[in-house]
Parts: sequence; C-alpha cells; structure tokens
Amino acid sequence: MNGETARVLETIKKQYYYQSEYLQAAEEILDSLDAAISSNPALTDWKIIERFVRPDRVISFRVCWVDDKGEVQVNNGYRVQFNNAIGPYKGGLRFHASVNESILKFLGLEQVLKNSLTGLPMGGGKGGSDFDPHGKSDGEVMRFCQAFMTELHRYIGDDIDVPAGDIGVGGREIGYLYGQYKRLTHRSDGVLTGKGIPFGGSLGRTPATGYGLCYFAEAAMKKLRNTTFAGKTVVVSGSGNVAHYAAEKAIQLGGKVVAMSDSSGYVFDPNGIDLEAVYQIKQVRRARIKEYLADHPKATYCDGPSGIWSLPCDVALPCATQNELDENDAKKLIANGVLGVFEGANMPCTLAAQRLLIEKGILYSPGKASNAGGVAVSGLEMSQNSMRLSWSFEEVDSRLKTIMESIFENCLATAVKYGKQENLLFGANVYGFEKVSSAMLSLGVI
Ligand code: NDP
Repeated sequence: MNGETARVLETIKKQYYYQSEYLQAAEEILDSLDAAISSNPALTDWKIIERFVRPDRVISFRVCWVDDKGEVQVNNGYRVQFNNAIGPYKGGLRFHASVNESILKFLGLEQVLKNSLTGLPMGGGKGGSDFDPHGKSDGEVMRFCQAFMTELHRYIGDDIDVPAGDIGVGGREIGYLYGQYKRLTHRSDGVLTGKGIPFGGSLGRTPATGYGLCYFAEAAMKKLRNTTFAGKTVVVSGSGNVAHYAAEKAIQLGGKVVAMSDSSGYVFDPNGIDLEAVYQIKQVRRARIKEYLADHPKATYCDGPSGIWSLPCDVALPCATQNELDENDAKKLIANGVLGVFEGANMPCTLAAQRLLIEKGILYSPGKASNAGGVAVSGLEMSQNSMRLSWSFEEVDSRLKTIMESIFENCLATAVKYGKQENLLFGANVYGFEKVSSAMLSLGVI
C-alpha cells in the first residue's frame, strides 16, 4: 500500500480498532487501489479514499416485541447507508445473533463495490438485527419483523434505500416486513426486493445469487482453464438460499455436489447430495442438516462445519458466512488439487486464505463479484416495479447470465490492464471503485 491508502487504513484502524470485520474488508479493498489512485491525483486531493471507506451514516435503533410467552424482548436494529453516489442505497437485511455494527459496515462497504460491478444504478447499504430466528415460531418472527419495520420505514424509500434479504431473512421475513411497510405508509412501491411473486416480486430472484455464482464460475473456468462444471466434484458450504441454488445450478451444469453444511457440521454423500432432501430439512422443517443421514445410509456426518474443506474436490463454493475458510483450509484444498474457489457468501475466505489461493494460481473470485447475481436481479425487480411490468423467468435468468459473464470479463480485463493477470480480486476492487469514485468526484464534497 502506498501513502494515501496506508494512511487511511491506519486512521480507521485506530478509530475502529474493535471492528475487526470492517477493518478486514477495508484492508482487502485498499490493498488493490494504489495503482488506480496514483493515476488520478484528484482522488487524493478530494479525499475520495477517506470518504469512500466510511459510511454516509449508521442508523441504530431499539426493536421491542412480545414473544409467545407474553414476555417483552429487546433487540438492536441497524441500517448502514454506506454510499449512494451511483444510485439509491441497496443491500440486504441480516437477522443473526452475531449482527453488530462491524459486520454491517463490512457488508455495506463490499456492497458498494458489488452494486457498481453489476452495471446497474445502485448505491450500497446493509442492515439487520441481532435477532436470532432459530427456534422462533412463525408468529414471533412476524411480530419481530413488524417491530423492526416500524422504525426502519422512516429511512427507506424506492428512490432512497431499498433493502432485501440476507442470512436469516428470506421470503417469509420479506413478506412480513413489506406488510408492515404497507400498513404504515399506504404505499405499494418497490421498497423491498425479494418480494413474493403475487405482490411485486421478480421471477428468478430467489435462485439468482446461487445461479449467478455458477454462471460466473463457468465463465471463468471456460476462459481461463478451458474447462467447465461437467464432470467436476463440487463442495458447497452452507445449506441456505445461496448454497441451495448454487448446488442446483452446479448439478444442472454437469457437476457432482458431494457435500453441504450448516453451522453445526457437514454431510458427505459419495453418491452426490440429494438436494431435495436438504431443502426439506433446512428450508421446510428448519432442522439440522444431520437429519440427512436418516434416509441416506451411504452418507456420513461430521460435527463442525469447517472440516468440509478437507474433502477432495475440483470446485469449492463457500456459500455460508464470513471467514468460514481460513489459511489452513485453503492449504488443504490446494493439497487436494482444487481448481477453483468461487465465493457465494460475503468474505468467506480470510485475508490469508485469499492471498494463498491467488499466490498458488488457484482460480479465485471474491463474493463481491461472483455473488452479485442476487442484487443484480434485485435491480431488475426494482425496474419491473417502476414500470409496472413483470418479466418471465427466462428473460430474468438470461439477463442474469449476461450480467455475471460481463462482471467476470470486466474484472479480468481490469486485472490484465494493471498487469495482474488472473487476479479477479484486484479486478473487482478496481473496476467497482473506478465508477463509484468518478461519481463521487462529479458530485463534489457532500
Ligand atoms: P441463509 O440464512 O439462507 O443460509 C445461511 C446458511 O449458512 C444456513 O444453512 C446456515 O446454517 C449456514 N451457516 C451459517 N454459519 C455457517 C458456518 N460457519 N458454516 C457452515 N454453514 C453455516 O443465508 P443466505 O444463503 O442468504 O446467505 C449466505 C451468504 O451469502 C451470506 O454471506 C450472505 O451475506 C451472502 N449473500 C446472500 C445473498 C442472497 O441473495 N441471499 C446475496 C449475496 C450474498 P444454520 O441453519 O445452522 O444457521
């Protein structure tokens, strides 16, 4: 890192020493930006880097609701509006016990670049709560969502800030959140994406992140290794929205998915994972993935999710959560001859794991590039809502594929332009930053 990036990183490290995830994301991005900055002195003169790494604002609020026993529960709610230079703030809501300001700032910063990469006019934001949906009844989830939206609705709008889902926020939660938004505002605009099809959702949004990940990976494998998913052994971590549809598309493209996980452990099935069984366990019954063993006698289960990376595979798709794949896991994957690691989750690889994969010439794509399909189709949902139109699944899916292939091409071309060959992490950071920083310069000091 040169003077300006190093100086900014040092400043935020001192100021936010307790926000490890935010600092990790900032370091990873700043590490790529020296060349882009040195070619344009205005970026330093106008303090663009210093402004770019800080959110426009962090809104935090109390969320009070009543559980099934009649007891009052209190949670923390947040919305981080990170950067709206190229369009309204856009990014998901996460409901998970671990949610705090650091995690939402890391996700918001990543989202700014991701949304820029899609080529659509969307700024970046992120929000959520430390509410843990595990073990909650449907009524409790509904009451929590209503309480959360009662505060959040003051800060969002279809041209202001458009939230969506993330960990712990799927179709059920988006429905309850949107219901409360309607009750409070009397409006039927596209203020949330990931809505159900009968009330303004887009066909193709639910599978978009997972499908988009595989479109990106297929394009990278074809162009850079002259191969495809066909005949490849694939390991997918997680078993939520992103993991499910990534596994489904990998199988459709000819791959064999042999393992999936949840936060308790992983299942390995040498016959290939029975995806419908995982769906029933995780999405319908909201149970533990271990239950897979009951109907699959050849499968095995291991406690602890990170063991999944010791399984030999050609393609690894981390689709669960941040920092789930560390340097040791990367070493095991490399020793077992992995061809590519393509991120479906946000920042699933630690900094050390990323660096090792790139250094050893493994195909590697950061989540901000390869998981951008979800927000890209959210952008298409916003367009359909504004136009009062709905496109077919085929139309949305084909636009998604085109967007993912062009994100890959743009990341690669940018890496090559700066002499970084196949470094898609560098390409994603610089290509995403160029558009946002150019808009920030044009908009003046605001
Ligand atoms: P979900 O809530 O649908 O699923 C998360 C899954 O990950 C669950 O199966 C959960 O298991 C599992 N999990 C959590 N921690 C671990 C762990 N340490 N090891 C293995 N599995 C774990 O979330 P999504 O699928 O929506 O999101 C997954 C990732 O993708 C996140 O990083 C998110 O930010 C990112 N993402 C999501 C997008 C979307 O459109 N949904 C868009 C872009 C990125 P359990 O049931 O035990 O909790």
